[in-house]
Amino acid sequence: MLVLGAGVVGVAAAWYLTADGHEVTLVDRQPAPALETSFANGGQISASHAEPWAGPGAPQQILRWLGREDAPLLFRLSADWRQWQWGLQFLAECLPARTRRNTRECLRLALYSRDCLRALRAATGIEYDHLERGILEFHTDAHGFAEGVAKAGLMRQYGCERKVKTAAECVALEPALAACRERLAGGIYTADDESGDAWRFTQELARLAAARGLAFRGSTAVEALAVDGGTVRGVRCVNEHGGAEVLTADAYVVALGSSSPLLLRPIGVPAPIYPLKGYSATIDIGDHRGAPTVSLTDIASRIVITRLGRRLRIAGTAELSGYGTELNAVRCAALLRRIFDLFPDAGDRGSARFWAGLRPATPSNVPLVGRTRWPNLFLDTGHGTLGWTLACGSGRALADVIAGRQPEVDFAFTGA
Ligand SMILES: Cc1cc2nc3c(=O)[nH]c(=O)nc-3n(C[C@H](O)[C@H](O)[C@H](O)COP(=O)(O)OP(=O)(O)OC[C@H]3O[C@@H](n4cnc5c(N)ncnc54)[C@H](O)[C@@H]3O)c2cc1C
Repeated sequence: MLVLGAGVVGVAAAWYLTADGHEVTLVDRQPAPALETSFANGGQISASHAEPWAGPGAPQQILRWLGREDAPLLFRLSADWRQWQWGLQFLAECLPARTRRNTRECLRLALYSRDCLRALRAATGIEYDHLERGILEFHTDAHGFAEGVAKAGLMRQYGCERKVKTAAECVALEPALAACRERLAGGIYTADDESGDAWRFTQELARLAAARGLAFRGSTAVEALAVDGGTVRGVRCVNEHGGAEVLTADAYVVALGSSSPLLLRPIGVPAPIYPLKGYSATIDIGDHRGAPTVSLTDIASRIVITRLGRRLRIAGTAELSGYGTELNAVRCAALLRRIFDLFPDAGDRGSARFWAGLRPATPSNVPLVGRTRWPNLFLDTGHGTLGWTLACGSGRALADVIAGRQPEVDFAFTGA
């Protein structure tokens, strides 16, 4: 079996498929796993963030932010028709009934995925700077807090235990918040959520899977899927030596992140995925004492703050602007400004490493996991803002689908 794409999603799938006894080869254009979007994300395992960006308030919010270079969500309209198509589909997903449905789907998969991650950790002892201290979403304006409280109620109905906290309770949970105590309106705490370094996890899991027989073909760019006679016959690649090569297998899993539709569209498999660019900054904590330990979400600026060992990761912002990963200085500066504004003693400002990655976003944020019209072609892609959260559950459920077992999670699998 070939798993195409060695991000956190592809590696998790490869792990469960290998465990099922398949002979699996993982293929990636990068020399090692997790060097693209899974490299420096926000680090949150956040069932509590299952609600998609596409919600009833989103269109108005986006219009308000339009043209603001440091806006948390920015649509840079271009001549790319795929971007316009995605944008229109995104608008359709903002209808209240669609948002409720999408929240439910993502949440079910997220809760299942969190359990799968825990089981995997217990079975392997894998280390990735993980913390089981929950996620605290904090609000710095009263109106936003009231909205957050209402949304938390919906999530509780669907099985995600989110607790409303006063400002004082937030500080008791995370003492570093004392530095911005007077600005806090309140918070919502999800004790069962977790955090950890997705890059480290992916590399480690690939290593553990290799010990069980997983093969890795790095520096191998997938160019096209070759189909004939109703099935996929092979994958056309440019291999590590720069030569053309066709890789063959009995089955194929597409986990190529934002590149997935580029391979799927030519063979008639719909995959409404468009890159939603995000940024992160990683700073060394050093001897500074003001860095939070509980993973935080700052709703006003849409950033997440996660401690990874002796580093602090600040990540966020979403920009619909195409496939480029170049850094925008204004957006990088906005991340640092906000973190040091809230937590003046969080770490060493001069140590900041900036990064940008492309979230493989569907308009609904519900990923595409399951079968396709080609009997030996499967999808595990389009995990958008939640790929780290959903990777283990998606991989485990896909292995069940491929084996013909009923997945343990109730989810809208593709091709079902
Ligand atoms: C700023 C930011 C913060 C985030 N924070 C969080 C968070 O806190 N929690 C969370 O759950 N999620 C978060 N995410 C989302 C998460 O990082 C992604 O959903 C996830 O990394 C997607 O994983 P993937 O394996 O699908 O994609 P990728 O990691 O991009 O993997 C795809 C792989 O396919 C390879 N590839 C692509 N095209 C080809 C080709 N043609 N040939 C060969 N190989 C190819 C790439 O090299 C890559 O390794 C965040 C994302 C960003 C950008």
